[in-house]
Amino acid sequence: MRYSQMFGKTTKSAQADADSANAKFLTQGGFVDQEMAGVYTWLPLGLHVLRKVEQIVREEMNALGALEIFMPSLQPKEYWEKTKRWEGVDILFKLKSQTDKDYALGCTHEEVVTPLVQKFIQSYKELPLAVYQINTKFRDELRAKSGVLRGREFRMKDMYSFHTSQEDLEKFYHRALQAYVKVFSRCGMNVKVVQASGGIFTSNISHEFQAITPAGEDNLIACEVCSFGQNVEIATVKEGEACPECSGKLIKTKGIEVGNIFDLGTKYTDAFEFDVNNAEGKVQRVLMGCYGIGTSRLVGAIVETFHDDKGIIWPESVAPYKVHLVSLGNDEAVKQEAEKLYNELLSKGIEVLFDDRDASAGAKLADADLIGVPWRVVVSKKTLAEGSVELKERNKSEAEMVKLSEILNKI
Ligand code: ATP
Ligand code: MG
Repeated sequence: MRYSQMFGKTTKSAQADADSANAKFLTQGGFVDQEMAGVYTWLPLGLHVLRKVEQIVREEMNALGALEIFMPSLQPKEYWEKTKRWEGVDILFKLKSQTDKDYALGCTHEEVVTPLVQKFIQSYKELPLAVYQINTKFRDELRAKSGVLRGREFRMKDMYSFHTSQEDLEKFYHRALQAYVKVFSRCGMNVKVVQASGGIFTSNISHEFQAITPAGEDNLIACEVCSFGQNVEIATVKEGEACPECSGKLIKTKGIEVGNIFDLGTKYTDAFEFDVNNAEGKVQRVLMGCYGIGTSRLVGAIVETFHDDKGIIWPESVAPYKVHLVSLGNDEAVKQEAEKLYNELLSKGIEVLFDDRDASAGAKLADADLIGVPWRVVVSKKTLAEGSVELKERNKSEAEMVKLSEILNKI
């Protein structure tokens, strides 16, 4: 991608209410644009990152054997009355049609997925089943804040599993938990698995996945070494003690909730009277689990974790591009060499952001730091005099000169 052709360029000023690193750098870097509090457009650069994160999530859900679907956000009031959540869920957006019909705007999808699966599944032989989607969610948050961390419209992967026994549910729940650990580690994140109470969903077993960063809202006691963590509010361990799982040191820290999984029991299948025939030829109530990852929040949490005072430092797995190619100055030979390198990188299937603008060296290098692509390659009169380019990793302070003939092998 030629940066001269990019829609949504870097800007000097962040959004007016930027209260966090992700709000500041994602807007200044041209990744997102704030439409209003808690609502963002994902610009091309930001969409690249969001898609990479969502693809990692998708691959790990597929590996579990879950099937991807895509459910409506416009949901009939009747379903929400069945589960007794039309009243009482304060964050539920409600709308009225011109014929006075009431709808909910999906903040979650139990009310859609339960009758959907009920429609298709009659026998225990067809279970277990897990379906998931990656969709936009709407929540009437009292206070939208921290950039994309707490929005009123945001992205979520939500998966729902259906079982005929508690044992089977727990087996899948455990596999899903492991898949979540894999998702977050593939995104480069240090995430703690925190036992939680079920909140508005259920009082059954539930786990939160907390990305450790000072920017987090949730207070935790977590292990310095392994993934063990507890919410301070319900902690049974204390700071300074040995971790019950690996005997590492427990510390007080903060986390961003990037995922949450629940054993829902029969809460929703009771509401919709979802039964299947069991092996004994009798009807039996279905058990359910649900599993969420806030994919847009995860992008924000990655920025909170990986940045310095100049900008973002993307982990390679989710970076919008692998290489940020910068040509400096107006020299024709430099321009030609940069063009040639750009095409060579592309032909190797490497994702390149090529800053081909007529801009000052200072501005181009500052933008490269702000955007945060892992590998920066600079072509200038000075580097070409040595038959070389300058190669620098975003997370290192030193650059090195690399011969033009070797650069493709280096990256
Ligand atoms: P929170 O406690 O932060 O309000 P929640 O527990 O209500 O979140 P869940 O219903 O568990 O959220 O939703 C699953 C995931 O969706 C969360 O773990 C989080 O990553 C993400 N999420 C929830 N609310 C928002 C929001 N307003 N903006 C962005 N992501 C969100
Ligand atoms: Mg939650």
